[in-house]
Amino acid sequence: MEVIPFLKPNVVKKESYLQYLSKIDENKIYTNYGPLNSQFEERILEEYFKGKGKVTTVNNATMGLILSINELKRPQAKYAIMPSFTFSATPLSAMWCGLEPYFVDIDKETWLMDEEKLGEALKLLGDQVAIVVPYATFGSYLNLTFYNYIQESGIPVVIDAAPCFGTTFENNHIGENFYGSIVFSFHATKSFGIGEGGLVYSRNTDLIQSIRKASNFGYYGTRESTSLGINSKLSEYHAAIGLATLDIYQEKIQKRQQVFEYYLEEINNYGLLEKGWEIQKTVGSIPYQFFSILCPKGEKNREYIEKLEQNSINAVSYYNPSCHQQQQFKNYLHLELTVTNDISKRILSLPFWENMDKNVVKRVIKALIS
Ligand SMILES: *Cc1c(COP(=O)(O)O)cnc(C)c1O
Repeated sequence: MEVIPFLKPNVVKKESYLQYLSKIDENKIYTNYGPLNSQFEERILEEYFKGKGKVTTVNNATMGLILSINELKRPQAKYAIMPSFTFSATPLSAMWCGLEPYFVDIDKETWLMDEEKLGEALKLLGDQVAIVVPYATFGSYLNLTFYNYIQESGIPVVIDAAPCFGTTFENNHIGENFYGSIVFSFHATKSFGIGEGGLVYSRNTDLIQSIRKASNFGYYGTRESTSLGINSKLSEYHAAIGLATLDIYQEKIQKRQQVFEYYLEEINNYGLLEKGWEIQKTVGSIPYQFFSILCPKGEKNREYIEKLEQNSINAVSYYNPSCHQQQQFKNYLHLELTVTNDISKRILSLPFWENMDKNVVKRVIKALIS
């Protein structure tokens, strides 16, 4: 039986960026926010954020998170409040900034950090809260009403929106007009994959300027370091691939949404939702990275993953273990994590790639329920 992989990353082919590579040869500028990087940033701001605010590229989203948290964290405070149901990069970024992660549960329908529980944590920890780091789960749109309110009340917010570049709701991009920081990943496995890369957006242009400065040794204008800097710049080669990706990204999103529709059709055909299976409740338009589903309560994802494996289908289980269950984070404080514990035992991340054939989707769902 032909093996069905989990993902088939699909970074643009070299033919589509040769024209941009030729520009690098002509310019003889290879990094340090060169002309291709500038063009990449300008196009993103215009085409995705209506020209409002500012963006800066980074060499990966983890660096974008670290620089954002470091720039915004309240001095003297200790905790970075975040969901445990996220990728390890979220708590690790806070730890690189000298903070301790403090985990809060997620909502059982949206799988986003539970805002009521977050409110409890804010009350409980008071002045000890350095920052809040929500995660826009699996690319979903995040309504920012509550986070704007927190941000305006003086508690800074950095959004881990790693898989969300291109996510929109009613024609607004996720994070658009947000005065905190929002971070996107361009890792090869993400929908906007260029190899390695990332982006930070804020409506606050001073914030982006400071992050850009920190990303370049703390230099601004002169070669004198004036803030805690590092090197996290995106090379011109990656910007070239980024420009070629922008040229066709809307088509990539449509292909991903088509595959998502195939999954929904098959799930409906077998009546899985009536049988206790659950999918994430989302709004808007999402550039799906994979297909997530919860098996019925009382059953274990592990057994389904094994069953798929026996049918030569590679599935995984994001995020199991979730962060508070991992050795690196298990000693940090958290509120009750009932939903996280339940979902991490039930979640399956199913095979997904652009142009995935409907018959492959059928094979996956059939094997799942066989
Ligand atoms: C992919 C991902 C990251 C890390 O992005 P990199 O660009 O690989 O550093 C961080 N957080 C989440 C939620 C992710 O999915």
